[in-house]
Order: sequence, then structure tokens, then C-alpha cells
Amino acid sequence: MTNAISNVPVPVNDPVRDYLVGSPERETLGQELKNRSKSVSDVPLLIGERVLTKPQQFKICAPHAHDHHVANCSLADDEDVAQAIEQAVTTQKEWSRLPWEQRAAVFLRAADLLETKYRPAINATTMLGQSKTLYQAEVDAACELIDFLRFSTSYLQNIYAVQPLSGSGVWNRCEYRGLEGFIYAVSPFNFTSLAINLATAPALMGCCVLWKPAEQASLSAWTGLEALREAGLPPGVINFVPGDAQRVTDKVLAHPDFAGLHFTGSTDVFRQLWSKVGNNVHQYRNYPRLVGETGGKGFVFAHSSADRQSLLNNLIRGAFEYQGQKCSAASRAYVPVSVWNDIKDDLIAQTSAIKMGDPAEFANFMAAVINAKAFKKITSYIEDARKAEGVEILVGGGSDASRGYFIEPTILLARDPHYRTMREEIFGPVLTIYVYEDKDLDQTLELCDATAAYALTGAIFAGDRRAVCKLSDALRYTAGNFYINDKPTGAIVGQQPFGGSRASGTNDKAGSYLNLTRWMSTRTIKETLQPLPTYRYPYMG
Ligand code: NAD
Repeated sequence: MTNAISNVPVPVNDPVRDYLVGSPERETLGQELKNRSKSVSDVPLLIGERVLTKPQQFKICAPHAHDHHVANCSLADDEDVAQAIEQAVTTQKEWSRLPWEQRAAVFLRAADLLETKYRPAINATTMLGQSKTLYQAEVDAACELIDFLRFSTSYLQNIYAVQPLSGSGVWNRCEYRGLEGFIYAVSPFNFTSLAINLATAPALMGCCVLWKPAEQASLSAWTGLEALREAGLPPGVINFVPGDAQRVTDKVLAHPDFAGLHFTGSTDVFRQLWSKVGNNVHQYRNYPRLVGETGGKGFVFAHSSADRQSLLNNLIRGAFEYQGQKCSAASRAYVPVSVWNDIKDDLIAQTSAIKMGDPAEFANFMAAVINAKAFKKITSYIEDARKAEGVEILVGGGSDASRGYFIEPTILLARDPHYRTMREEIFGPVLTIYVYEDKDLDQTLELCDATAAYALTGAIFAGDRRAVCKLSDALRYTAGNFYINDKPTGAIVGQQPFGGSRASGTNDKAGSYLNLTRWMSTRTIKETLQPLPTYRYPYMG
């Protein structure tokens, strides 16, 4: 076994299950949701092999039902963080020396467990803690997570296989070492798969990790970690430290062994962390790697030749799935008058008919936004729009926080293309549309490029191939993920590597080989095969 030049299994995207009435997957998920509704789960810390329940905890309630107490999550204190760092630094030395096949096998085994035994649990905890509908949980928490784990092991093998040339009498090699020290993974609430991948990608490459999850997503994060531990993840490789974000972060970033930040979340927070790292740079043993995927202001740009029906359906899915809480969500649209006249009435009618409610009722297309802070922020944008000049509410605009944090899918029509909802990330079910004169295509393309600071996702809709070329070229730097005649959301691992630039991040493409290369430090080895007979060169005579 040790002398095999191994090939990892060829990865295939995990198929999305149907959950049709009477199907076994629907039964087991229904049962899991029921069981979890009868009890309160515990989310502990994990430091090395110690699973710790702390006296200081926070309470997680379902965003769609305030009276549904889902879990209690322990909070790490300074001493826990210090111990987790020590554990990670010590474990890294051994973990990074383990043959890579042994590391890869842990993650492949975890993918299998998540595909089978843990599928109901990872979906149910995501539905309850983060208020995802069944489909949104399935494509994220199950399928995308499984894909991350399987595709990454295959990329790892390809990376390691890249070796330098060797001249006569010389054997050159590259050894891809995990980063010395530890990696700090800080994850957002909105994608279970992305959150877990922030910890597992560096771990696969031979790094050890401190992982601070987002509060509301800590139950699904812990469920993923349970699958990884059952799969044989050795103690100390991933250390789980939910806690006060700023306090944990300040302790971590001040440590000399801090070797990298793997962050997904808002632009402001990533900028703060970057500044802190900059201020501490003189005290680190290595220059830390900073990888951050941050905010977005996804656009849809329609051309007069666009397929009307497809545009309309993709606007609804792109803007309102998971309540618009996707960095990639369609949150501004540029539509020519000729197209707008054809779709306006249907778009309003279909948006107002969207069903919203408890995600455990499978007929709902939308559920609640994540918490009181998000509810307040999103509704304040809607209230501003109610009063502002240059914008009107076409449909939606209502909200109700009495039972859960529900906000109606809302479409604004902006006469002012620079109105704040065309520029700022709202992160909720609000789509703003700007209708342009067909003849003003060129100026409107410039507007789309220059209006928002972000460059994560964007979509164009056009039937005319010359228009496809023109729009693609004009919008070249507006999105790291660019879609033609499709919604700007729903990237699939192995098919559309995901990430953006400008204020949207470092564009290291989560789940691709590009991201994995950030978590290794290459040692080049030159071995000379012949002894050197003299220090003199032949031309010297
Ligand atoms: P957030 O920035 O509020 O939180 C992200 C993480 O940072 C959480 O773990 C949080 O506890 C932590 N954090 C918050 N304040 C901090 C501080 N001062 N110091 C240290 N850590 C801190 O983001 P969120 O609300 O969880 O997620 C939504 C954001 O994430 C949106 O902006 C969205 O666009 C972005 N996002 C981007 C991508 C992408 O791939 N580009 C994917 C998902 C989410």
C-alpha cells in the first residue's frame, strides 16, 4: 500500500434527491425533523480530543419560529482559544507528515457518511438553524458539501503530481507541505457546505485549523464535524471554537504561529481582519495567507433579444431562493423597456403568489431571514424605499416578525440607477430593477459595471449571439462567476468554481484546485546524482 502511486476515486457530483411523497429520503428527513423538534441539541467545543460543554452558552432558535429552541452552543473563552492553538500547532507536525492518501481517505469516508447516514441530520439542522427550505438544504448541506470533499481529494492528487523537469545527472522534486502553524477558518451563516469547507480544505492539504462558526449555523457545523470525526479525522486537526467573534479573533491573530485566514462573510469584516493581520505582520513566523470570499451585488442584465419567460423565472429564483441570503443572489436587474413591457405583469403576479413559511412544510418556496439584526436591516431598506424619491415598491414590502423573521419577496423599481438598493448589499429578498431605453444599451452597460463596488456574480440574458459577445466583453470585470441565460446563483463544485474580485474577495475559487494551492508551501528538492570531481569549470583549462 505504502509504495502504490494511488489514484483517488474519480469524483462525480452527488445527485440531488427528489424527496417525492412516499420516498425513503422524505420519510427519514421528516423523522429527523420531528425528533429534533422534541429536543434541544448541544453544540460543544472541540479542542484536540476534548469535547467541552461550557457554562457560557448562547441559545439558537429557529429563525422561522421564535418558540422553537433548537440548540445551546458553548462559548470558547481565552484559555480555550489558547489551548486550541497549541493543539493545532502540535498536531500539524504529525498530520502534515501522514501519507497524503491517509489524509484523503478521511475526507472521502466523510463524504460517504454525509451521503448516507448523516444526510438527514445535516439537512435537518440546516433547515432548523438556518431556515432553509428542503431543496435549499439538500443542494447546500448535502450535495455541495459531499462534492467539496470528493472533488478536493482529486484536485489534491493532481496538484501533487505536478513535478519539475530534471536535467542530466539531477533529480528535481517538489514537496507540497501543509503550512507551518495553524489556519483560522471563520465561516458565515448562509451555507453549511462553504462553512465546513473553510475548515476541511486547509486540513486536507496538511494544515491544522481553528474554526469559528457563525452563531446561527453552529449546529449544522457541529453535525458536519461529527461526520468527520466518525470518518477518522484525528484529534487536533480541526479545533472547533464557537465564541465571541471579536474576542476569539483578536487572540488568534496575535499569535506568532498564525499561518492563514480562510474567511467567508461580509466585506467589512474581512477588511477589519486584513487590517489586524497587517498590524501584526512583524510578529508572525510566516507571512500569513489571506483568503476571503465576501459580499456581492449580483446583477441580471437583459438584452432586447432575451427569452422573456426564462428571464422572469430566473429573476424569481435568483432573487428569492433562500430569502435572497446568498452572496450570489440576483439583487439588481437592468431590463430594456421592450422586455419590461412583456414581463412586468407576470413578474408581479408570480412574485406575490410565492409561498413562504416553515421550511418543514415542503410546499413553501421561502422561509425566514436569519435573525433580528438581518430583519431590521432588510426592512429598513424597504422602509427607505417607501419614502424615497426615484424608487417605488412594485410588489411585496410587507414583513412580520411576530412568529419568525418573515419578509415578503419584494421588487423595487428604481428610476435612479444609483439608488442605494442598486449599490449596497442588502442580503435579503429584495430585487431592484432599473428599466433602460433600448437605445441606451452602451451607457447602461457602463452603469452596471461602475455602480456597485462588488464583482461576485452576474448574468446576462440575450438570444442574439452578437449581443452575448458585446455584453460579456463590456462586463468582463464585473463578476468572478458570469452566467449566460441563467440565474447568477447555484454554482456547482467541479463545474463552476466560485469566487469574485473587487470588494467581493480574493477570488481564490472555493472548492477548486486554486483554493487548495493557498494552503501549501512548496519545498523544492534538487538531488545531484553524480559527485562533483572538481570546483573548476572546463573552460578554465
Ligand atoms: P458576517 O461577516 O457577519 O460573519 C461572518 C463570520 O465572521 C461569522 O463567523 C462572524 O461571527 C464573524 N465575524 C463577525 N464580525 C466579526 C468581527 N468583528 N471580527 C471577527 N469575526 C467576525 O457574515 P454573515 O452574515 O455570516 O454572512 C453573510 C455575508 O457573507 C454576506 O456579506 C455574503 O455576501 C457573504 N458571503 C460571501 C460568500 C462568497 O463566496 N463570496 C459566500 C457566503 C456568504
